[in-house]
Amino acid sequence: MDFDTLLSNGATLAPEVLLTPEGTKRGMAVKFDGSRIVGLGPLGDFPDATLLPGRAIVPGMVDAHTHVGQIFGKALIGGEPAQIWRRIWHPMERDMDEEQSYLSAKWAFWEALRGGCTKVVNYGLNNITKNAGVHRAALETGIRLVSACGLDEFSGEIGTGHGNKSWLEIKDVILAHIDHCDGQEVIKPSVCCSSFMGNTPETLAKLSSLCADKGILLQIHSNEHFPEVHECILRYGMRPTELLHPHGVLGPHVLLHHTTLVSEVEIELIVETDTATTYNPLASVWKGNAVAPALRFAQRGVRFGIGSDTTSADGFKNLMAAEACQRIEHGLPVADFSCGAAWTWVNASTSQGAEATGAAGDHGALAIGQAADFIILDMMAPECLPSHDFEWELVRYYNRDQIDAVVINGRLCMSRGEPIGWDTEDLRRDAMAVSTKITSAPDIVRCHGPSHLYRPSRD
Ligand SMILES: [Zn+2]
Repeated sequence: MDFDTLLSNGATLAPEVLLTPEGTKRGMAVKFDGSRIVGLGPLGDFPDATLLPGRAIVPGMVDAHTHVGQIFGKALIGGEPAQIWRRIWHPMERDMDEEQSYLSAKWAFWEALRGGCTKVVNYGLNNITKNAGVHRAALETGIRLVSACGLDEFSGEIGTGHGNKSWLEIKDVILAHIDHCDGQEVIKPSVCCSSFMGNTPETLAKLSSLCADKGILLQIHSNEHFPEVHECILRYGMRPTELLHPHGVLGPHVLLHHTTLVSEVEIELIVETDTATTYNPLASVWKGNAVAPALRFAQRGVRFGIGSDTTSADGFKNLMAAEACQRIEHGLPVADFSCGAAWTWVNASTSQGAEATGAAGDHGALAIGQAADFIILDMMAPECLPSHDFEWELVRYYNRDQIDAVVINGRLCMSRGEPIGWDTEDLRRDAMAVSTKITSAPDIVRCHGPSHLYRPSRD
């Protein structure tokens, strides 16, 4: 099957399965023209549709939280205790230049496309120079990007040297970032900050109101690790999300990352303010303290997406971890075998994930008027047959080698694992040449060392 021809403008496709906002549908066709879905309905209404037997079309997955500047260090974290940002990420990312940022981001986008992700929400304390590299990588690969602009008021050395700047200076940085993203259909601006650990509540309040005003996403790392929660209570007498609420920081334009250690009171504050969150199950397993109460979020109507947090950008691996972590945490102890059922995690990974990260009806679902962001899956692998319950199959049996095509904003970005329009060998050569320099920044500290040190001696 030649996807390049198949997916040319005005294509109408009739797969065996189409995953719509109403669930799994058979006998349907979807038509897209340019960047948009312009028709969707029963196959009989589309006599010219190209039949795709044995194929499923599902919305692209959204990586709702990752750090594209950290990709070359992803394998440094095995066995490391939480709060890795202090010991590995800050020293590693701090001095990256435009070219290094470009190579790191392009590598991250390559992994994301291979993993079935059509949208990546980047978190980084980035200045315009780093973002010039990140944006170039996004435009070359075609991935949909929520771009990061970073602020850290107290720690001037972090990221971009915004430290100790006046509010007017901080505001100028944000406005310049918004300008930098202007006119790019698949790149949207956002502001990133840690909660009280990097900014005063007053600054956070100003950031929130500016982001609301400009209609952009404010990303805040919140309630992730024990030391952070303890420090907030010691400093302010409140937990991190409790602190954000009275200062007016929370709201529908805010995306709280991790929220693993949230109390019932904090969950209700998130509900009351329609704040969105990200659930990062693999990050919890690989480098966290706890698992976010995502099942509770789902029950309370919290909009949440699933993030990789630079663990593995494989959307299917994250989907399986999302269900498995909730099952272990909440399902097993009470014999809840459904545990949110598959659709909760599929939604969080696709349409709800897009919505939580600022899509606002623009993309993320297979529906008329939405952007054509989707993946075509081969349903014929033995692991996926016979098919009885497609959403459970997506969560448990599908694998990234079944992704036939990745389409973003109507553009074919990957066909059978190979990116379209750029050369992977060039990237591999250039990226490997700089990755050692990036991952050997002098102040990187690995507490636990590599795995082989912990093998028992045979003497
Ligand atoms: Zn993170």
